[in-house]
Amino acid sequence: RYRLADRVDRLGVETAFLVAAHAAAHAAAGNRVFPFHLGDMNLATPPHIGEAACRALRAGKTGYTPSVGIPELREALAEDFRRTRGTSYTADHVAIQPGGKPVIAKFLLALMNPGDEVLYPNPGFPIYESQIQFHGGVAVPYGVVPGETNFTFDIDGLEASINERTRLLIVNDLHNPTSAECSAEDRRRIAELAVRHDLIVLLDEAYFDIHYDGRSTSIVSEPGMEERSVILYTFSKRFAMTGWRLGAALGPKEIISIIGKMNVNDESCANHFVQWAAVEALTGDQQPVQEILAELQRRRDCCVDLLNDIEGVTCYRPDATFYLWPDVTAAMANKGFTAYQAFLSTILQETGVSMCARSHFGTPLPGEDRFFLRLAYSGIGVDDIEEGLRRLKAFLEG
Ligand code: PLP
Repeated sequence: RYRLADRVDRLGVETAFLVAAHAAAHAAAGNRVFPFHLGDMNLATPPHIGEAACRALRAGKTGYTPSVGIPELREALAEDFRRTRGTSYTADHVAIQPGGKPVIAKFLLALMNPGDEVLYPNPGFPIYESQIQFHGGVAVPYGVVPGETNFTFDIDGLEASINERTRLLIVNDLHNPTSAECSAEDRRRIAELAVRHDLIVLLDEAYFDIHYDGRSTSIVSEPGMEERSVILYTFSKRFAMTGWRLGAALGPKEIISIIGKMNVNDESCANHFVQWAAVEALTGDQQPVQEILAELQRRRDCCVDLLNDIEGVTCYRPDATFYLWPDVTAAMANKGFTAYQAFLSTILQETGVSMCARSHFGTPLPGEDRFFLRLAYSGIGVDDIEEGLRRLKAFLEG
């Protein structure tokens, strides 16, 4: 017999993976599944990146690297940020990670003491709440709410939640799951709040490059933000490299050096030959990235049009990420459902369409009275989108 640590009770999961398990079981039973549930990608990593990984392997790039990554990659990423965000980062401001996700825990472990309050978006990426609570912080949600043409961050609510115990703020501009994005005014307000209340900010920019209007603006460019921001960067989405597991933390040298020390203690370093592939990703041909974006945009348009054609469903057409967040309040009521679980599993059984719901991205906040689903179109091609959403329409209108 053994006794588990108390903190284990506070560890959450990424519930989209539970939905994926249901979908896999449904498929294993011989059914066709339309995978709209996971933010994974069925688009291939551009071949020149794979070639660079093979070249590195053949050249024997198979030993440990410095804990913070190879200098060539740190410099290439710093240069990418100087160009895209106007930061003054050098290689010393970059700690390479085995994925973007580890940056969340490392940021909190470096900066949060037990009992510190951390503001995070809800609905939001479920790992924020899980990691804040696991490491003994107090998770304080702020809302992401419907606006005129897209979802927006409830910055008034965020401001109202700040008190003397608030230490950290997590912002996910280009937001999973709603695709919300900050306006110029929002970026200015968030920066002003962070400076005024002396908050250190985690900018989760996992989707920074998945923007169909070519936007590249970051809160880090606002006055006073470079010295109080840590950026979560990932190769996963921009280069269709989810399974390669490579990302980075960028920020003030002092914090980056602490995170580097954590690397020494955790994984030693990220995969060596994958780091060379990432140098190629950043400095090589960018045309394949444009093709990935063009394909995602095609899928977005197809999904949005078909969803809005279903009675009782309304969906914004966001300019970024590969997620849609349709309001299905009326469709659920039409079918007599009052809870997500039964709604989603009936849809899976009847149509094979697998999706996530608002409930997978945090506990609904007081006053929320609409029902939302989350569809990811990164892992499903246009033909399957059309067939899946045709079946969904038939079910919901039948
Ligand atoms: N942040 C957000 C908002 C995400 O949606 C994801 C992945 O889905 C990540 C971070 C982490 O991505 P990765 O660990 O693949 O870099």
